[in-house]
Amino acid sequence: MSVSEFTLIERYFTRPLPASGEVVLGIGDDAALVNPPAGQQLAIAIDTLVEGVHFPAHTAPGDIAYKALAVNLSDLAAMGALPRWFTLALTLPASEPAWLEAFAGGLFALAEAEGLALIGGDTTRGPLCVTVQVAGAVPVAGAMRRRGAQAGDGIYVSGTLGDAALALGLVQGRTRLPTTSLAQDTSVLMSRLQRPVPRIQAGQALRDIAHAAIDLSDGLLADLGHILSASGVGADVDCDAIPRSAAFSRWERAQAASVGLAQSLLLAGGDDYELCLCLPPEAEALLAERDTGVSLHRIGTVEAVPGLRVHHADGRACVLPEGGGYTHF
Ligand code: ADP
Ligand code: MG
Repeated sequence: MSVSEFTLIERYFTRPLPASGEVVLGIGDDAALVNPPAGQQLAIAIDTLVEGVHFPAHTAPGDIAYKALAVNLSDLAAMGALPRWFTLALTLPASEPAWLEAFAGGLFALAEAEGLALIGGDTTRGPLCVTVQVAGAVPVAGAMRRRGAQAGDGIYVSGTLGDAALALGLVQGRTRLPTTSLAQDTSVLMSRLQRPVPRIQAGQALRDIAHAAIDLSDGLLADLGHILSASGVGADVDCDAIPRSAAFSRWERAQAASVGLAQSLLLAGGDDYELCLCLPPEAEALLAERDTGVSLHRIGTVEAVPGLRVHHADGRACVLPEGGGYTHF
């Protein structure tokens, strides 16, 4: 059974518009019309997920949809923008109701939780590929950027790193959890890979005090490296201070023979979707008062000397993984 293009759009992707009146016209015309909030700029991001590149074939459709939206929300979070509207370009090999139902379920679970409206899109036939574009609002000239980090800033990350990369290793059979791990560790790690939580609240809460920010999609070294080069500074990072989840720590302890693997997941594993922020020293005192919705840990310091130096808590240099972050070409 399959559904026609117009039935598909109507049945699975058309939902009531928010009452705020910001969206004047949603799905159903040649373009959507929105009224941006007064005094705000639009922050716009887009990301594509391709089957076989960003997710394996037969990934649950709800997870694909959730992640396609979440990775975009993470970009807006890193700018300190509040996501408002999104569009969806969907290329499908077939239009199967059960697949579409599950896909829409994952998509709107996140969209509705964040108060986001789907205002348009495009539907085509071909190899499975999902593109989401998100627009959000940020006060004029108030966005966090990659540039702006200054010597003396503390480098902070939200949440925990390495979980998604560890989960990918489990899926691909490259890593195994120790038998001493708790039963729920696998599901905790898998949800970090499949349903990353965009740190929107943290971006909002720290927008006015951060000197620079980025979201971690390609690994800490690569993404922090973008901040450093955009800002013309260097940094010193303590790899033992990088926050780990309980599940990751249990695996890491059992993994003593391969310290290098744990370090490479923490430093260069992708798909964390946590924020990395550079905060001036005086911001440290404000952190406790801000409701970021997620823990923040200091992992290092911005320095005037260019380059990224990574060491252990006892001062020994940390052996860095080869190859930097993920790049497509
Ligand atoms: P056009 O040919 O003018 O581009 P379409 O027939 O592609 O229009 O789309 C009709 C309407 O449905 C438009 O408002 C478009 O934004 C919306 N739309 C199409 N595909 C999707 C989708 N996958 N999700 C949400 N809206 C969609
Ligand atoms: Mg079209």
